[in-house]
Amino acid sequence: MVLVYAESPKGQFKKAAFEAVTYGKKIGDAMGKPCVALVIGNAENAGQLGVYGASQVVQANGAFENFDSQIFSEVIASVAKQMGAEVVVVNHSSSGKSLLGRIAVKLEAGSVSGVNTMPTLDGGFKVKKNVFSGKAIAQYEIKTPVKVLSLMGNSFPPVASGADVAVQALDITAPAARITVKAVETVDGTVPLPEAELVVSAGRGMKGPENWGIIEDLANVVGATTACSRPVADTGWRPHHEHVGQTGVAIRPNLYFAIGISGAIQHLAGVNSSKVIVVINKDPEAPFFKAADYGVCADLFDVVPRLTEAFKKFKAEN
Ligand SMILES: Cc1cc2nc3c(=O)[nH]c(=O)nc-3n(C[C@H](O)[C@H](O)[C@H](O)COP(=O)(O)OP(=O)(O)OC[C@H]3O[C@@H](n4cnc5c(N)ncnc54)[C@H](O)[C@@H]3O)c2cc1C
Repeated sequence: MVLVYAESPKGQFKKAAFEAVTYGKKIGDAMGKPCVALVIGNAENAGQLGVYGASQVVQANGAFENFDSQIFSEVIASVAKQMGAEVVVVNHSSSGKSLLGRIAVKLEAGSVSGVNTMPTLDGGFKVKKNVFSGKAIAQYEIKTPVKVLSLMGNSFPPVASGADVAVQALDITAPAARITVKAVETVDGTVPLPEAELVVSAGRGMKGPENWGIIEDLANVVGATTACSRPVADTGWRPHHEHVGQTGVAIRPNLYFAIGISGAIQHLAGVNSSKVIVVINKDPEAPFFKAADYGVCADLFDVVPRLTEAFKKFKAEN
């Protein structure tokens, strides 16, 4: 069977959990095996994971208030062993990334991180992911009996294929924590970058943090999450969680606005899987134009407010 760990931060499922279950269901269908969703700690209406294809939902109840990769990986691995999972799926989120290797070690399993396609099963279990900053696609064959995968966000849209299912409670005693989580600070109110379908991102061309109002206005009108290039976060113009790229968050939204960003390879590495890229830059030689689906070669301080007004007008008329 396929075991999917469905993340439920603060007791709520986000789109990423439904994507992972949808993906697990597809793999299960291809293997002729059921897909079981595992929830750790509290979650509102865990049975809804059945809608996205889980034939069974198991919920580990216990002292699991804060995410701890050592404890969560222990729980996931022990449930996988008990239930005889052949494939374990987690999200390629910050939590999922810290779980993948730990689960794989505990299960003596081969693992691939950041997969974005369905595995092929003919002649071995083979799965693909982007490598070399998105410039190439690598195919991996996992030969161990158990396989562990982390799924890149926005690769498989959630598909409602079933109905709510009953939730089976698992009484699991949480292993002793080796670290103490003293406080958890999260950003509320916006869609997290890895899940965002629309992203408005800006770079050093903005000249300073005091000018970010036009970026937020554009993001608000289209319902986008804001992002930035690395130097912008490094200099404290924007918070670090907005930094996208090779050393920041890797994203693949449906629409990515790159405003006043040159398009250095390290930036592109994290965003070039976006489905549509719109670049606004006053330098016609800016490398980002080579990766753009649409380009506006102009001063951003002129174009961005006009674009926001045009979106507002369009929304008012439609
Ligand atoms: C190991 C390593 C890892 C890195 N990881 C990352 C990463 O993860 N993410 C990342 O972003 N970077 C990363 N970098 C840095 C990267 O190489 C670039 O330096 C960085 O992306 C440049 O940021 P920028 O485009 O905002 O700034 P700049 O390169 O300064 O570009 C600013 C752009 O704004 C345009 N502009 C200026 N004024 C206007 C205007 N008025 N209107 C329109 N356009 C205007 C300019 O033409 C220019 O193209 C990394 C570098 C290294 C060495």
